[in-house]
Amino acid sequence: MPEQTSAIGRLIEAFAGLPSIGRKSAERLAYHVLKMPHDEAIAFAESIRAVKENLRPCRICFNLTEAEQCEICADRRRDASLLCVVEQVRDLLAIEQAGSYRGLYHVLQGRLAPLEGVGPEKLSIDALIKRIEQGGVREVIMGTTPNVEGDGTALAIASRLAGLPVQITRLARGLTVGASLEQANRDMLADAIAGRQP
Ligand code: ZN
Repeated sequence: MPEQTSAIGRLIEAFAGLPSIGRKSAERLAYHVLKMPHDEAIAFAESIRAVKENLRPCRICFNLTEAEQCEICADRRRDASLLCVVEQVRDLLAIEQAGSYRGLYHVLQGRLAPLEGVGPEKLSIDALIKRIEQGGVREVIMGTTPNVEGDGTALAIASRLAGLPVQITRLARGLTVGASLEQANRDMLADAIAGRQP
């Protein structure tokens, strides 16, 4: 593929580099941008810049935020005694969209994958343990992906929590094994939260 120097060529390349966007779709999107009103197109570009420059992990739960603390941690109406542990911010977003969970979160920033060199030190597990040691958390809900690595991650965390006065539950298995929380639909997620088990 020759290096693209024209603006439209670079835009097509940029779209083509996105997941599940083929060449034809990339061209269609690029020409769509070309036809967009000027303000709308600039706002689109700005939103990409903003997520890269302004977002950082919440210092408490590792959700993404523009402030020190994310909106969820800062929301005093939420139940701080409930903590749902998820792998990625997009899992948190999926649970939020299901709309029935009122507790707080902890985003691990990945899952343990020893074969790929992802050990506990690469995740926010120490921060999670510290958070729970500080007290006030009654229940930790493991919302890791229901597959080998996700289950392994949940087990490793559960073993570090042994001895702390906290109940550990797992999202109910309405979810297909291997399906990410993101793919699960709203109702399934709401059921999984309601039917969580020790
Ligand atoms: Zn937070």
